[in-house]
Amino acid sequence: MPSPAAKRLCDFLDASPTAFHAVDSIAAALAAKGGVRLDERSAWELEPGLTYYLSRGGSGLIAFRVGLGLAAEQGFAIAGAHTDSPALKARVEKPLSGRGMERVAVEVYGGPILSTWIDRPLSLAGRVVVSRSDQGKGGSGPQGPATETRLVNLARPIGIVPNVAIHLNREINKGFEYNAHSHLPVLVASLPETARPGTEAAPASWALRLVAQELGVEADSILGCDLYFVDAQRATILGAEGELVNAYRLDDLLGCHAVLEAFLEAPPSLRSQVACFMDNEEVGSRTAQGADSSFLRDILGRICALSGCGNQDFYRALSASFCVSVDVAQAWHPSYADKYDEAFAPVLNGGPAVKSNANFKYATDAESEARFRLVCAEAGVPCQKFMSRADMSPGSTIGPMSAAHTGIATVDVGSPLLSMHSIRETGGLRDHDAMTAALTLLFR
Ligand code: ZN
Repeated sequence: MPSPAAKRLCDFLDASPTAFHAVDSIAAALAAKGGVRLDERSAWELEPGLTYYLSRGGSGLIAFRVGLGLAAEQGFAIAGAHTDSPALKARVEKPLSGRGMERVAVEVYGGPILSTWIDRPLSLAGRVVVSRSDQGKGGSGPQGPATETRLVNLARPIGIVPNVAIHLNREINKGFEYNAHSHLPVLVASLPETARPGTEAAPASWALRLVAQELGVEADSILGCDLYFVDAQRATILGAEGELVNAYRLDDLLGCHAVLEAFLEAPPSLRSQVACFMDNEEVGSRTAQGADSSFLRDILGRICALSGCGNQDFYRALSASFCVSVDVAQAWHPSYADKYDEAFAPVLNGGPAVKSNANFKYATDAESEARFRLVCAEAGVPCQKFMSRADMSPGSTIGPMSAAHTGIATVDVGSPLLSMHSIRETGGLRDHDAMTAALTLLFR
């Protein structure tokens, strides 16, 4: 039987196949604990000790609890993670039809290990904007009263990217480069008897009609969509003692879930507590809801302005703040040991890792590392360290960008993870518990 914490993580993973759903899951958890939803367009009034949250773009979210002390002196305790993961974005408007087979063209989002997406049952999830004349009722979308934004999560297999038979490519096990345009379209139907002689084009996309049917609207009322093919399999617990989790999107839903649970667990403190869930890290973060944007700084500024801060107080508050950027870390893989500097290669279930890089792919410096190590020690959890081999360059995170936009002292940390950017990644549940415990103490 999985522990209650593992069960909560798996439920979060299964409910969050896209960044939009992750934000929806996070917002629901915050609302259930009394969080008050804000809108950037409204004038706010904030009360010390209360929890607020707001979404930008539907796929980024910042939650905060206003501190009981003076903002200029106490600053902010911040933890952040990213909501997006590599995926195949569906071009559902464009059916590729021939001989009764219908495929959906895709675009690759981020840097997935493409071979892991082949021959796997895929589901479809994301958001669509529908004309409200078709709806009759419902909430208003950001586009105004004429449209409504709806989330869709089919949560069942509807397509597959079939591999070529080995008889047609005997060399495939020596490595094969999948072409996104020609090899990755997702097969969603094969009904040769319905193919009309002499025509290659189907009248309308089956996938688009399926989404419309799921939402109870007409296909032609769909005005825009951000839909992704995603793994259809649910999160799985494995290992000798059920100590491993295997799922889609652990990078970085592990981070999002740890930040969320820690934020919900922590009581109000003198410092304002801020939990950030940023989108588009996998493509460089340069969007309105990404870390390379005004989002965090805007919200911190508004909290200060509404906490009676004077002219210099916002800058003093930034200077008194600390941020933990929570992502995943490349776990040591015994089959590829030569890819690591073993002294700095964290193992699964050995504890959270501080991530460091001389060229600041990570925001960590000696002072921020020391602060996080003290937090781990106080929380009674182990702390590992990740640095890539000196002749290799690691990935990056939201840490350096949010630090650059705010000037806040920042450390990059992560739970060790195997198969990063595979459609199924594997992480350690003990690391996740330890990360959550450390972040809870940070917020306190
Ligand atoms: Zn990541």
